[in-house]
Amino acid sequence: MPLVSLLAIPPAERNKLRRDLLAWFAARKRNLPWRRTKDPYRIWLSEIMLQQTRVAAAIPYYMRFTAKFPAVKALARARTQTVLGLWAGLGYYSRAKNLQRAAREIVALHGGEFPREYEQALALPGVGRYTAAAVLSIAYEQPLAVLDGNVARVLARLGAVRGDLRAPVRWRSMEAAAQDLLARQAPGDWNQAMMELGATVCTPKSPSCQECPISRWCQARKLGIAAALPETRKKRETVKVTLAAAVLLDPRGQTLLLRQADGDGDLFSHMWQFPAVETSEAAASELSRHLHSKFAGMAGGVLQPLKTVRHAVTFRNIHIQPFLIAVEKLPRLTGTRAVLLRGLGKLPISNLTRKIAVTALAHLSTLPENAALDRPV
Ligand code: SF4
Repeated sequence: MPLVSLLAIPPAERNKLRRDLLAWFAARKRNLPWRRTKDPYRIWLSEIMLQQTRVAAAIPYYMRFTAKFPAVKALARARTQTVLGLWAGLGYYSRAKNLQRAAREIVALHGGEFPREYEQALALPGVGRYTAAAVLSIAYEQPLAVLDGNVARVLARLGAVRGDLRAPVRWRSMEAAAQDLLARQAPGDWNQAMMELGATVCTPKSPSCQECPISRWCQARKLGIAAALPETRKKRETVKVTLAAAVLLDPRGQTLLLRQADGDGDLFSHMWQFPAVETSEAAASELSRHLHSKFAGMAGGVLQPLKTVRHAVTFRNIHIQPFLIAVEKLPRLTGTRAVLLRGLGKLPISNLTRKIAVTALAHLSTLPENAALDRPV
């Protein structure tokens, strides 16, 4: 459905709407660290962090990241493991890897400055239409409207748009409507104002229409259907994934981690993790087979099952059965690393790996001090 009712707002009224929203934003905007700068690098970083991450959770990561890498050049020359270490816990690690790849391209191709051309920005790894428009409008005041979930919701309610907003045709008409409504004299503030309204007032479940600076133009409010829009789309079905993971432990308290290769998805991507295998029923024997095929000749003691760990990543519901396995000597293989189980926090590890380590340490803390683990003879 075209956004007829939205576009039907007469030009003079649209100007009034723009003024009212911008005035509201100037008075009510949240004081966020990335709003105190016009540095395109910092704005870009914040936009990448805020994808899939709440504002409150992103702030400490943003502060640590910008303290360590105050400019694109510092990020470009850093070791990838250091970048991932600072990202650890935020999830979706491909974001961090793309961020650094893009930083290196910016240094190599654009003299260390985030490009001003939309097409050049779009060509950077991890930068899509939304991010390119956000950075260029906020940092460089380019007249490009953003469309993300928050803005789409506000527009859908303003125009009483029904149906799945993410359907390609409808999304394109939303992009056109967003661009049409853009306050061209202040595109950066306008985009942030639309996102702020969606995040704080025009919220998904119960919009606070009485506090809304643009309520008089809102069709959904007039029709009494604000909370019912946007109409929900079909959710992707959750897939259950069952893994068995090995927490090998040598007499010095060291465990073995290995690094997931590129292209193995975002579950652990490029982070250090415990050896693990997807299993069906017999987790212990499948894990044992997996370890023996991966580490030929490995001698390990009994597999002691630990508490099951649960973890959710997008549509995947992951159940992990960790096993503690005492070994005399950790196997050595390219791409593996022996680290103290108690010292894992210093490495770039995913939340999933962290949960397994915490479970193993909790189990060990219940054992009497000199309890012998069942090691191979
Ligand atoms: Fe959203 Fe209500 Fe404002 Fe309409 S009036 S834009 S539904 S907060």
